[in-house]
Amino acid sequence: MADTSYLGWPFFGEPHRRLVRELEQFAAGGLSDLGHGSDDDAAIDAACREIVRRLGQAGLLNHCCVPVAGDRFDVRSLALSRDVLARHNPLADFAFAMQGLGTGPISLSGDERQRAAYLPAVMRGERIAAFALSEPQAGSDVGAIATTATKDGAGYVLNGTKTWISNGGIADHYVVFARSGGEKGTRGLSAFIVDAGTPGLQVAARIRTIAPHPLATLVFDGCRVAESALLGAPGEGFKIAMGTLDVFRTTVGAAALGLARRALEEALRRIRERTVFGKPLAEYQLTQAKIGDMALAIDAAALLVYRAAWTRDVLQRRVTREAAMAKLYATEAAQQVIDMAVQLFGGTGVVSGVTVETLYRDIRALRIYEGTSEIQKLVIAGAVLSGDGA
Ligand SMILES: Cc1cc2nc3c(=O)[nH]c(=O)nc-3n(C[C@H](O)[C@H](O)[C@H](O)COP(=O)(O)OP(=O)(O)OC[C@H]3O[C@@H](n4cnc5c(N)ncnc54)[C@H](O)[C@@H]3O)c2cc1C
Repeated sequence: MADTSYLGWPFFGEPHRRLVRELEQFAAGGLSDLGHGSDDDAAIDAACREIVRRLGQAGLLNHCCVPVAGDRFDVRSLALSRDVLARHNPLADFAFAMQGLGTGPISLSGDERQRAAYLPAVMRGERIAAFALSEPQAGSDVGAIATTATKDGAGYVLNGTKTWISNGGIADHYVVFARSGGEKGTRGLSAFIVDAGTPGLQVAARIRTIAPHPLATLVFDGCRVAESALLGAPGEGFKIAMGTLDVFRTTVGAAALGLARRALEEALRRIRERTVFGKPLAEYQLTQAKIGDMALAIDAAALLVYRAAWTRDVLQRRVTREAAMAKLYATEAAQQVIDMAVQLFGGTGVVSGVTVETLYRDIRALRIYEGTSEIQKLVIAGAVLSGDGA
């Protein structure tokens, strides 16, 4: 059983503690069997759809969207959900997170009609969402986006390639960022909702990674969308993308935290059971030093993650610096915690399918997506140099 003492921290209220109990109950109902660790694309896709359906039915996707204009995300609920789900089944955490990320721009900038058309169905788990920002030449460098959205009569025509698109192939809609104006760099980008099946949108290739989930390259070739697909005003795309990441970046740290907590749980069980040189591994000081390091890293990560979430929820301001710190520290620390768990397992730790081995693969991409660790350092430095939090 994981340490739940953090729930007594002043960042949380009773609704947060109740949510964690509901999530734990939900996870105990067979979640761990779904999809995680599979390398069969069709099985992974089916598992993701099933997880989304179950989460939606249980009301656990409600925090992923803000259907009523003027309401706000509760980032603590999003982070707690990811923390718990990642601990039980990283694929479930992925499916949960994408429902939020793939509708974040609609929650933050959608008009009433767009909110009504997409958000309730996503929250019920009846519609799968995706967020299409990255391109082959534009990952960290969002200003290099080359996909164009050309005004044409009563709509726009999209041309270009998006890659690394999570839920690519199973999503019902994609929020796509494209260049609609003549300006260079991050100016002139706009955000559009593109429904799957729109002529000219093609899922061009599946991407396989070390921890598989639905991931694809999309090609837009004369893909025509109505004016009503535009989110916010033309040219607001970068602001919309960054506003969305301001909410969800903290939650990537929370997912890393869940993976690290699971690694510690697995390691604790193992070192009590495994006897070497006549006594359990847990009784050796070299082992205890590792456990001390792991527990410290987990608590430090949790403090940064929930500080960022609380600051946004309660102080109601942008948390660019806090979210970058939370994401950077929690993902890097989780990688180290999981590595220590693998080491404590000895040879068994690198056997395919053993939990610490799958965690070792699961954590890696979190240090890359939604802004690499290096980019987070630049964001933090930028904020500090400009006087934010100095
Ligand atoms: C599993 C996975 C899922 C993803 N899901 C999505 C998704 O759903 N939607 C989406 O839009 N994108 C998604 N991405 C894309 C992800 O956001 C990008 O991979 C990420 O932003 C990095 O971009 P890049 O891969 O082009 O690397 P690059 O930008 O080419 O970076 C390569 C290296 O250079 C470093 N670097 C970059 N700039 C600097 C600098 N100024 N100084 C020093 N070093 C620098 C980086 O830190 C990195 O180490 C996903 C990626 C992965 C791996």
